[in-house]
Amino acid sequence: MAKLDVVIRHGEIVTGAGSIGCADIGISDGIIVQIGGALAGHLELDATAKLVLPGGIDAHVHLSVPPEEEDVDPSWVDDYTSGSAAALTGGITTLGSMAFPASGETPLAGLEREAAIAREQTIADLFLHPVLDHVTPQVLDEIPKLLDAGCNSIKVFTVLSNFDCQVRSYVEAIRRAGDNGLITLIHCEDYALIEDATARLVAEGKSSLRYYAESRPVISEVVATERAVAFAEATGAPVYIVHLSSARALEVCAEAQSHNLPVYVETRPLYLHLTRERFEDEDGAKYVGQPPLREQQDVDALWAGIRQGVVHTVCTDHAPWSLAAKLDPAHTITNLRPGVADLDTMLPMLYSEGVRSGRITLSRLVEVTSTNAAKLFGLYPRKGTIAVGSDADLVVFDPELTLTIEGSVLKSNSDYSAFEGWQVTGWPEVTLRRGEVVLRDGEIIGQPGSGTIVPRGATNPL
Ligand SMILES: [Zn+2]
Repeated sequence: MAKLDVVIRHGEIVTGAGSIGCADIGISDGIIVQIGGALAGHLELDATAKLVLPGGIDAHVHLSVPPEEEDVDPSWVDDYTSGSAAALTGGITTLGSMAFPASGETPLAGLEREAAIAREQTIADLFLHPVLDHVTPQVLDEIPKLLDAGCNSIKVFTVLSNFDCQVRSYVEAIRRAGDNGLITLIHCEDYALIEDATARLVAEGKSSLRYYAESRPVISEVVATERAVAFAEATGAPVYIVHLSSARALEVCAEAQSHNLPVYVETRPLYLHLTRERFEDEDGAKYVGQPPLREQQDVDALWAGIRQGVVHTVCTDHAPWSLAAKLDPAHTITNLRPGVADLDTMLPMLYSEGVRSGRITLSRLVEVTSTNAAKLFGLYPRKGTIAVGSDADLVVFDPELTLTIEGSVLKSNSDYSAFEGWQVTGWPEVTLRRGEVVLRDGEIIGQPGSGTIVPRGATNPL
């Protein structure tokens, strides 16, 4: 029997469609070439009593500093190499990173500039979402060309001060994106309502981060989400709501989905595991993200949304800071550093708190951390599943391994975790990216630059 490059033996194979039982997986040239039957490999991995999952796809991370903020100190502490190390440790083999344009730069030029940096550094496979800030006629003209360049998404922020004066252009951008096989990611918080709430709190002397949740009220997310739904209805183009945090905004999306509007929902672990009381902690600033933490009823609604298929993806929005930068005593509700590092911990925590505790099934976990993102971001079935012909992006996952989260030992350069001290059962033992063992027993083996920027096809409806 001819030997394949790698054989993974006796693992229980789980995809978004369910468990396909215990079988051996044969890998050659980075591709899955056989499942089951007689196999021999130059490298054989024993996955007895382990799960074999498709590599995670985290479609929302920040591994590069926006060009305008390059001189701002401190900034985010991960690059594509350390971000990859964190991702692979946590069973994520493909990353979707936000690419902010330099001033006056068009989407294609921004992609090219960012890709040149990323190609040298990344270990995980990667794709980039060009952020639109100033929607000029030149930017609009480039949108139909993005898919040919392997890019099937754009990102917009309703929360920026210049959003409202450009809404007409954003609607046109979303329409052109949809007409050309692209999906539009939208950060849904209303700029004016946040400014208003914040100014009132400051006037009352409530500018400390204890009042962070009040400064970005649920209604600001609800109204921005309603607008995103309106954009989808007016243009017929798919929209993808990033980091949705509240039950009420989720309700808006569920209603839209019931009318068959192409409205997709991402949430992130902060909103599944924590509530706003954390902002009252002495070190509450370390939990600050945009939107803020919400109430227990919101947490419950998001878990239910994952179960029911209203929430399609769980992504980290990995935005890594040092603890000192995050706890800067000068911070207030008008001056803060949003975002947390979460690539090491997202998938194990979803398994531990979601699957083991009976909130979601294992196949649902695979769908929201891999398969659905692969479909929406034009990578399926090359990625997002375990099948003959797919990339061998695989995680040998030990469902019984219990570890306590310690931010200082995680692979992200961020030196703390928002989930410090949590006991988590279920961790990756081996991670393979296109057939190459890149993580084994907690050690990163993959080399910077070995990841590729993956070309994407048109978005697929779910
Ligand atoms: Zn983000």
